[in-house]
Amino acid sequence: MDLNKREYVKDVLNKKDNSKVIVAGWVEKVKLMGNLNFINLRDRTGVLQIVAKGFKELSKLTPESVISASGTIKKGQKKSGEKELILDNYEIINPAETPLPIDIFGDTTSIDKRINYRFLDARNPKINAIFKIRSNMFKSIVDFFSKEGFIKINTPKITAAGVESGSELFKIDYFNKKAYLSQSPQIYKQMMVAAGFERVYEIAPVFRAEKSHTTRHLTEFIGVDMEMGFIQDENSVMDVVENLIKYIIKDVKNNCSDELNLLKVNVEVPKSIPRLQIKEVKSMLKEKGKKLSDNDDLDSESEKIIGEIVKKKYKSDFVFVVNYPWDKRPFYHMKSDNDSKGTKSFDLIWNGVEIGTGAQREHRYKILKEQAKEKGIDLDKINGYVDIFKFGCPTHGGVGLGLDRMVQCLLILNNIREAILLPRDPERLTP
Ligand code: ATP
Ligand code: MG
Repeated sequence: MDLNKREYVKDVLNKKDNSKVIVAGWVEKVKLMGNLNFINLRDRTGVLQIVAKGFKELSKLTPESVISASGTIKKGQKKSGEKELILDNYEIINPAETPLPIDIFGDTTSIDKRINYRFLDARNPKINAIFKIRSNMFKSIVDFFSKEGFIKINTPKITAAGVESGSELFKIDYFNKKAYLSQSPQIYKQMMVAAGFERVYEIAPVFRAEKSHTTRHLTEFIGVDMEMGFIQDENSVMDVVENLIKYIIKDVKNNCSDELNLLKVNVEVPKSIPRLQIKEVKSMLKEKGKKLSDNDDLDSESEKIIGEIVKKKYKSDFVFVVNYPWDKRPFYHMKSDNDSKGTKSFDLIWNGVEIGTGAQREHRYKILKEQAKEKGIDLDKINGYVDIFKFGCPTHGGVGLGLDRMVQCLLILNNIREAILLPRDPERLTP
């Protein structure tokens, strides 16, 4: 059968009666009724009923085998009048063994086992839909940044050392030298603002050697990082992030309505995202019985509670928490104008989960060095970084978002492992 002439099920279902077509896909079901047999054939666009008059050997066709089929389109017998294919001929491209190692269409298999057999698991249209939406989100992000004049950069993932603490670095053997997998493109994106690109972004793997077994941490995830020059303050960055979020949700709603319906997810484009001072957030948390000191960070429990509070009080799924304590932020975050204990930084929380951290960065060479000293950082070790700010660098700031977390939050998935095809965590290196 000429696979160059193969058409998608979705298109075939819209054809006129008596059209001759070739389709191909997976055998979802075979119904044997003697002289009149039926195959449900699935491809990535839908399921088509094939009516096979005769073809007794179909009893040997196993579920999930891959076949091609040719025949004539006819209006079906069902009330819906959905088109069927009257089979002329079929070929088995690859038979599937039985039994299948997982129940593709049930919900009884553990996520762990499903990921072991992701190539089967993702044949479930609901799982498939997650990754179609993820693919669209990726496209939306690229569209948005291009529209806003950002330049896409690619930065090294093998590095000498991170600017941030070393505890989360994966060490690798690099021709007898010490090297690490990149835990953030921070240094490079700031470098490229200074290089005159002004606005840059990268969507790329980020590696974190955190031995956490949570539903929102991976050891390898996709970071969506941007950095922009000539900002007024951190609000300039939040404005862009807010527009990015609106753009993604609008674009996904426009392009993925079938997939969202299948997953029973109803998302709304936020009107505006509230920006709350961390002090204000902490007093709201206190009212809920969660006490945090001025210098504390927000832990995941606090993020969850704050997610519930803003949902009620502001009718918003999102919140920017701003002005995090200097104690908890890296040395390159700019300090607040009138409060040396605060920073011009923010976190973005979606349905109670942090999806991004950003800030205005300190671009003044002398102050940056003082801040590094204050954090007890050995200046000799960060020369390569601070030199960026010695020869002309604009005010700038940026954000690091996690794509996998965004997919998780958009689709309200209870585990980040549902949002990535082949997750890496402390226990998993395969497939
Ligand atoms: P968390 O506090 O949730 O561990 P973080 O503050 O350490 O996150 P950042 O360094 O701010 O993370 O990274 C920026 C973004 O990257 C986060 O907001 C999140 O969306 C994503 N991210 C960070 N660590 C992970 C991880 N281990 N797995 C998946 N996504 C992550
Ligand atoms: Mg963070």
